[in-house]
Amino acid sequence: MDALQSVRETLKDYDLDDISIATIGSHSALQIFRGAREEGFKTVCICTKGRDKLYKRFKLVDEFIYVKSLKDILDEGVQARLRDLNAVVVPHGSFNAYINQSEMEEKFRVPLVGNRTLLKWETSRHLQHKWLSEAGLRVPKIYDKIDDIDGLVFVKFPGARGGKGYFIVDSPEAYDGKMADMIEKGLVTEEVAKKPYIQEYIIGVSVYPHYFYSALSGEIELIGIDKRYESSVDGIDRIPVPEQLAQKINPSFTIVGNFPMVVRESLLDKYFEMGEQIVAKSKKIASPGAVGPFCLETIVTEDLDVVAFEISARIVAGCNVNIGYSPYTYLSYGEPMYMGKRIAREIKEAVKSGELSKVVT
Ligand code: AMP
Ligand code: AMP
Repeated sequence: MDALQSVRETLKDYDLDDISIATIGSHSALQIFRGAREEGFKTVCICTKGRDKLYKRFKLVDEFIYVKSLKDILDEGVQARLRDLNAVVVPHGSFNAYINQSEMEEKFRVPLVGNRTLLKWETSRHLQHKWLSEAGLRVPKIYDKIDDIDGLVFVKFPGARGGKGYFIVDSPEAYDGKMADMIEKGLVTEEVAKKPYIQEYIIGVSVYPHYFYSALSGEIELIGIDKRYESSVDGIDRIPVPEQLAQKINPSFTIVGNFPMVVRESLLDKYFEMGEQIVAKSKKIASPGAVGPFCLETIVTEDLDVVAFEISARIVAGCNVNIGYSPYTYLSYGEPMYMGKRIAREIKEAVKSGELSKVVT
């Protein structure tokens, strides 16, 4: 039996009056728990010993499941416990940071809010690019050959934590020089250097929209928007340029936090259309297509062109800026609404209408 069939079978045994919402204790777990509580669900936190402390401070967790390592979420014992708790699991960024998504897709036999095949797509830059471009969004050009570099490019590497080792150059010669420097400084290993991902550098400002696609109503919602605060890149402008040059500073992109954001009202239509294009394409990629939260990373140029360079098929931590509500959810709901609560609301509605299998895979 494949995972999807297995999840369908599992749902038949669930006590629908006693569903709990589970996630790993990190990333955006606090708002997932808070949202679950507000919609009347019990909460389950899967975490390593020591990580429970933070979640206990906020008193939002009913049950802890302790694991030695987060990938142990795939252990049969942990999965059985989750099923005993009638748990539906909400995936977030730590799931793809710490758990192999192919294994998750096949071996995790607990209902997962969202589409597990799309979660796997998200872990590949090439598949993300395919999804975004075939959906019809404007995307940065990808360079397959170093010799083709003909303008400003962003060079990224697989598994580069916090963008350490990423660099920006504008010619093949500059690439060779910078790469040698990165290897010498130990920021990139020779092995990793063989697999660069070279992307056109888009000049503009970053805008990260958070969407929710309701598989029940077929409607798309804009839940909020954020922008990031990254170290050291967002601190470099405090250093005068001569010292920047003398120190040969290489910016890194370690995420530290996020800021809430709104865009010019006239850009909103564009963002809704992009969300709709993503959903339409997702249905062709992996049935049933996008389910629940998905988020984009975009850059808006001076001509107000929107270029999308990353997609997440789940809640992103940037949603944390809108715990409570965002300007956009206030417009639509007139009551507190944020991604964690929106997810729980969807589960509640699905249980009520007997359609839980539409919002989990
Ligand atoms: P943490 O719980 O802080 O260890 O983060 C778990 C995973 O989520 C790591 O892969 C982080 O890089 C990622 N992450 C945490 N917070 C953010 C954020 N605000 N934006 C993007 N990624 C994040
Ligand atoms: P990433 O690790 O891909 O999220 O990117 C790290 C940082 O670089 C973020 O601040 C992004 O906004 C920025 N960034 C990523 N790709 C591009 C691009 N193609 N052009 C300009 N900025 C980018």
